[in-house]
Amino acid sequence: LGRMTPHPDPRTGAAVKAADRAHVFHSWSAQALIDPLAVAGAEGSYFWDYDGKRYLDFTSGLVYTNIGYQHPKVVAAIQEQAARMTTFAPAFAVEARSEAARLIAERTPGDLDKIFFTNGGADAVEHAVRMARLHTGRPKVLSAYRSYHGGTQQAVNITGDPRRWASDGAAAGVVHFWAPFLYRSRFYAETEEQECARALEHLETTIAFEGPQTVAAVVLETIPGTAGIMVPPPGYLAGVREICDKYGIVFILDEVMAGFGRTGEWFAAGLFDVTPDLMTFAKGVNSGYVPLGGVAISGAIAETFAERPYPGGLTYSGHPLACAAAVATIEVMAEEGIVEHAARLGTEVVGPALRELAERHPSVGEVRGVGMFWALELVKDRETREPLVPYNAAGEANAPMAAFGAAAKAHGIWPFINMNRTHVVPPCNVTEAELKEGLAALDAALAVADEYV
Ligand code: PMP
Repeated sequence: LGRMTPHPDPRTGAAVKAADRAHVFHSWSAQALIDPLAVAGAEGSYFWDYDGKRYLDFTSGLVYTNIGYQHPKVVAAIQEQAARMTTFAPAFAVEARSEAARLIAERTPGDLDKIFFTNGGADAVEHAVRMARLHTGRPKVLSAYRSYHGGTQQAVNITGDPRRWASDGAAAGVVHFWAPFLYRSRFYAETEEQECARALEHLETTIAFEGPQTVAAVVLETIPGTAGIMVPPPGYLAGVREICDKYGIVFILDEVMAGFGRTGEWFAAGLFDVTPDLMTFAKGVNSGYVPLGGVAISGAIAETFAERPYPGGLTYSGHPLACAAAVATIEVMAEEGIVEHAARLGTEVVGPALRELAERHPSVGEVRGVGMFWALELVKDRETREPLVPYNAAGEANAPMAAFGAAAKAHGIWPFINMNRTHVVPPCNVTEAELKEGLAALDAALAVADEYV
């Protein structure tokens, strides 16, 4: 705790909290029912409050601090860029922007070599969808029920989870389908092979009934994140690629959460050897130090807008501060071997440790994941797979997960909790010792979840 800045002071913490409660309107929340922690500082895999209580961040913020907090090289790059040229409008060629685009394009699969910059993930999805509609001249977009694509109008319409319902009045042209998820199969499948084949058949049938000539794009998270880190069965994404090619549909992969090292690959598409036509990114691109997202664009789609203007843009597209942070982050990830580190620790430490926890804790129904991207599905009953809390959009009857969360915090980890799941998503450069400390805390918290089984 010696290096904490600013020094925690409970009086300052109380003032920060009071001003927050008086004036900050929080996302996705009933304003009167929340009690946000006042954070005094953060470094590496940890953050701490004004009482000096320190937490190991098993959430990486919102799954974005892929190189942890306050990496000195990235902080220095932001400071240097601020001193040199804090901002410049998007119509100009600016060193930080061109360099960031080059480094990203070098790492994206296939011919995704042109980069359109946005301020985050949702606007990246919005623009990818617009590009697909203009490229094909078709209106509809197909996306998965178990998905999250962002909080802006089009992105939330495409999102599958119930948070989209409030905005569905403006959802013209969005059609949802079921992507594979064997543990809670919609296809009565018993094996990964069945789940994969039936999910592909379902997608192709959906396209047939919607009319292929009306479908601009299929949008999928490479590995759906917020909805439960559901690694698709082998062959599924390659099958979607084939279906899209057959009907001239643009294949969009959303790598906002899965990209930039999270899965132990630069992009999760690399795990499945698929290349989409458009790929969205944000979060890990610069560890979220400055807002940045974007769309990586294939040669064919870039060609559509070679002679004809692309009708869309943002004032802060490719903001130099954000791009300087991206350049430094990508360099740090490459120099420090962070992608390989995440892959190795995922395979050698997290996977085996979580499977061992599942053997001892009756509340763990399933363990799934890869790299630094893992989910535990907590259940009342392993046989029936009844969730520890019922799926409930209003978040009612949440006591077991709240007790689990409180226990995790008491043992020093900040857990990611969504419905009946906890996700293990620490920074990709978390050390093995930190991981083991966090997994021991998770073990203790699961004992509390077991009491509700
Ligand atoms: N797509 C995916 C897959 C995401 O996980 C998220 C954010 N959790 C978004 C899009 C939206 O990104 P943002 O919050 O930066 O707009």
